[in-house]
Amino acid sequence: MSKYITTPIYYVNGEAHIGHAYTTFIADTLARYERLKGEDTFFLTGTDEHGQKIEESAKKAGKPTQEFADEISATFKNLWDEFGISYDKFIRTTDEEHKKGVQKAFEVMYAKGDIYKDFYEGHYCVSCETFFPETQLIDSEFCPDCGRTTSVVKEESYFFRLSNYEDKLLEHYASHPDFIMPRSRANEVVNFVKGGLRDLSVTRTSFSWGVKMPKSIGDDKHVMYVWLDALLNYITALGYGSDEAKMNYWPADVHFVGKDILRFHAIYWPAFLMSLDLPLPKHIGAHGWWTRDGEKMSKSKGNVVSPKEVADAYGVENLRYFMLREVPFGQDGDFSQRAFIDRINSELSNDLGNLLNRIIGMSGKYSDFEIDSVDVVKYHSKEIEQMNLILDSLDVFLENLQPHRYLEELWKLFAIGNGVIQEYEPWVKMKNGQKDEALATVAVVANILAKAAVMLHPVMPNTTNIIADALSFEINTTSYKELILEKKLLKLFNIKKVPPLFPRIEEPLMQEAPKVEPVTATKKEQSSKKQTKETKKENDNLIEIGQFFETSLKVGTVVEAEEVPKSKKLLKLQIDLGEENLRQVVAGIKEFYSPDDLINTQVCVVANLKPAKLMGMISEGMLLAAKDEDGLCLIRPEKPKKSGTPIG
Ligand SMILES: [Zn+2]
Repeated sequence: MSKYITTPIYYVNGEAHIGHAYTTFIADTLARYERLKGEDTFFLTGTDEHGQKIEESAKKAGKPTQEFADEISATFKNLWDEFGISYDKFIRTTDEEHKKGVQKAFEVMYAKGDIYKDFYEGHYCVSCETFFPETQLIDSEFCPDCGRTTSVVKEESYFFRLSNYEDKLLEHYASHPDFIMPRSRANEVVNFVKGGLRDLSVTRTSFSWGVKMPKSIGDDKHVMYVWLDALLNYITALGYGSDEAKMNYWPADVHFVGKDILRFHAIYWPAFLMSLDLPLPKHIGAHGWWTRDGEKMSKSKGNVVSPKEVADAYGVENLRYFMLREVPFGQDGDFSQRAFIDRINSELSNDLGNLLNRIIGMSGKYSDFEIDSVDVVKYHSKEIEQMNLILDSLDVFLENLQPHRYLEELWKLFAIGNGVIQEYEPWVKMKNGQKDEALATVAVVANILAKAAVMLHPVMPNTTNIIADALSFEINTTSYKELILEKKLLKLFNIKKVPPLFPRIEEPLMQEAPKVEPVTATKKEQSSKKQTKETKKENDNLIEIGQFFETSLKVGTVVEAEEVPKSKKLLKLQIDLGEENLRQVVAGIKEFYSPDDLINTQVCVVANLKPAKLMGMISEGMLLAAKDEDGLCLIRPEKPKKSGTPIG
């Protein structure tokens, strides 16, 4: 059986961030795992290059649109190449074969009566390239996805009869409970479809940077809507509409996507496929987002983590391990250097690296690096049984898209390996002249390491090749079958010295994310910044007192408070800071406080933040609050203080 695994195609309006790297690592891991098992596997990634946003970004950059797309697309491809991503094809939606395939699909849908021409009048968000019905807008004006102002657009458009597929989609979700993974994400999709599907506008006349209409339809001023174009990449990459030789890989086993584009993949895409009479993908795997040190990453905060920077500092395979191990698939994850370093030091360096070093050391000392597994069963059948149980349990975790559980279980092998040395103390056996027993212990641990390396190979391909080399075998489908499926042991083998695989890391290897956004770039601040850089070497967390006082903190009294309609998180407060006018602060505390809890109470306000616009409302400050797993609480003065009293 063949396997087909995809990442989303990445939009070329910005460079790769850590979320892109995460999706790509997961997909690469699964593809490598399937190949290891001997499956004929096709792994696709690429870039999405059409749409009004790209046209505008290119204009801003002063470049022809194609040149702009070429450059950004190349940054993705180069990064994946540098990271050793094992894709079989890197598709670009500006590829000629892709365009041909999209036109063919359009013709098929049109001939079937699933596409018709009409007018669209709607509220359009340029940033999201999406029309929204009035009922979905916030305050009848703002985009429900990004909060930006929408504009009313009327244009001629071709429509896809999405409404025809409502029942068929619901039937499919019901009969394929694993279509959307993790299952916890399925409800939002099902409810959306149950709420009623409107036909989907699939062409535009307001810009030209897209796949042209098929000639057979003869309506040149239209170009394809970006989602129709983009989603079809999963079949055009296999040659749909041109050379269809690779279509035998269809349907896909897993489309990995971020949760923000789940709806497009779980509703539009299967409806398009039904219209084309093609089978649906087996699974849509939707993952969460990454924060940094608990904060949402954004350019304005200056805390975006570049995957290249992390990989350069810590090693790309350590990063792969960390990201896959740290977060249950589907949930949001947090990147912090502390957590990353902890996993490198405790799991990679202590549990795995040290175990390998001990085996190298003991084998050298006891038997000049020559080991065989002859006596392993005799002395260590208990450990072999434990090891086999774990090895047998692993497959299901990766197949169910739970890499964190896979790695967690896999790590139990190292606990067995370390435990066996502690329990049997081969050095004591050597002293007592029980050399056979001592070598059996070394050999059983070498076998544990070998098998663990095979199973860890999809996550850390190069590192595990070094381990395999140290144990003088190769990781491939044959050794997978022998060592894992047939449970064979390594025969006579040499152990080679290798340098430590995971040197301990004592200090963060990258600069920490800036904590406080500078308000104005004064000379004084710049010089204090320079100073901090020097003191940073001594202690990363210390700041100058002057830096602290750059933040103006004040006691405020809440005069008015109301809910922001349609927002789950926001409350709008009017706060007395002892100034002439009240300050309006929009705060994300609605889940924890009702307006009545707040009126006439005091809060601590960051008073010199640049005003920000949230859901179209100006917010002129920020409340201090503390949040842990039990929820959020505001920081308040212990006794009433005059409004505007500075805090320091
Ligand atoms: Zn928007």
